[in-house]
Amino acid sequence: MPRYAYVNGRYLPHAQAAVHIEDRGYQFADGVYEVVPVFKGALVDEGPHLDRLERSLRELRIDMPVARATLKLISRELMRRNDLTQGMLYLQVTRGVAPRDHKFPAQATPALVMTTRQTKPHSEALLNQGIKVIAVPDIRWERCDIKSISLLPNVLAKQQATEAGAYEAWQIDGEGYVTEGSSTNAWIVSAEGKVVTRDASHAILSGITRLSLLKLIREAGFEVEERAFTLEEAKTAREAFLTSSSSFVLPIVAIDETPVGNGHPGILSGKLRARYLDYMAALGADPGGGTGAGAGIEGAA
Ligand code: PLP
Repeated sequence: MPRYAYVNGRYLPHAQAAVHIEDRGYQFADGVYEVVPVFKGALVDEGPHLDRLERSLRELRIDMPVARATLKLISRELMRRNDLTQGMLYLQVTRGVAPRDHKFPAQATPALVMTTRQTKPHSEALLNQGIKVIAVPDIRWERCDIKSISLLPNVLAKQQATEAGAYEAWQIDGEGYVTEGSSTNAWIVSAEGKVVTRDASHAILSGITRLSLLKLIREAGFEVEERAFTLEEAKTAREAFLTSSSSFVLPIVAIDETPVGNGHPGILSGKLRARYLDYMAALGADPGGGTGAGAGIEGAA
């Protein structure tokens, strides 16, 4: 079955989809993106993802390329054409095509690209074993709350993790506090049993999975704190885990080769993963909601 991409008003065979060489995304990383998980053909938390897309665009003074309702229609048409059941929808908006010059072009039409990717569930082995993370210095800019396509530090961090046999790199700020992973948010269960994740600020991307999980944790009556935690606190935490649109909730068993807790996936992390999957299942069961449960999906956000 041919796979399609959407590029500035046209559905094109994926292999032939292309943008102009003077697209400012290509030349300056002057654009933003979103990754929306898809399960059983339905989008997960579409509303919050589109809210974040609009916010990122506003912060960079790029116009929405089409109306929000049109974005939703294109998403569904692309998913239909690609017969997408489980995976992710990728949306990218750049400032558009213009002769190369740093300042904003006087006139440029924002460029919109959308692709989909079918992904496989996380293996049971991965879930049972848990994952490892390494710590790296956070060398990014001061607006990590914007979901910019400028991801070079994140790329370098993920590559370093991969070469170290780890799943993710946790970035550490100048004061020794964990900001977040290269494409995931960071969480611990403190020595006192509280769930802790860094507060939303310009220092992190406030993940949509993070927001949904925070709600679920509060509803379930677990104690949660949105605050910074150091690498040292993380290494002596009872549990650690990460969240993202492609990982959902994944238990961390080692940080820089230091075992977390007893070195096995934590009980609370497992419960939270299950709650998150139930949450998605409930959305899928709700005709107005539009998603379903999954065991997690492999692929990078
Ligand atoms: N932090 C960073 C830097 C990310 O790139 C991502 C996802 O791409 C996340 C956190 C998790 O965000 P979400 O849960 O919306 O996927």
